Amino acid sequence: MTALQEFQKYFDLREVVSKKVFERYGLQAWQFFDPRLLAVVVWLRKGMGIPLVCNNWANGGNLSQRGFRANLDPIVYDKTKAGKLYCSAHCRGMGIDLSSGRAYAPTIRQWIRDNAASCPFPIRLEDDISAPTWVHIDVCNTTDLPVIEFSAK
Ligand SMILES: [Zn+2]
Repeated sequence: MTALQEFQKYFDLREVVSKKVFERYGLQAWQFFDPRLLAVVVWLRKGMGIPLVCNNWANGGNLSQRGFRANLDPIVYDKTKAGKLYCSAHCRGMGIDLSSGRAYAPTIRQWIRDNAASCPFPIRLEDDISAPTWVHIDVCNTTDLPVIEFSAK
């Protein structure tokens, strides 16, 4: 089973792309995701055994930019309009923001630190100060450590 197939057991595509991307690409939008990111999220989902939430726009919620971000999604669009460079992991299908109704973000991060040795690919985490209420995970770790932390602030 591929990383994508496993990921699809837990997440609908609409949970990880915006409405614009979903309407334009449909199921072809799965191509935008780095399989390493999908494998890491499956590892976390299965390991912690709790539901993880990314976007919720399809159910009427206001979260739409926590997975893949395209050029017309507001975070990217606004940066571009302001003349700011923006090369986020979210724009490359390498990053995701998650939360859970069952555990606070710092608790999820601690689980990741405690289990770093079994994480399938090297990852970066946004730290507790930079991401107080969500868990940003990406596969942009270029070190030889399994987990590194950074601040976006
Ligand atoms: Zn993020």
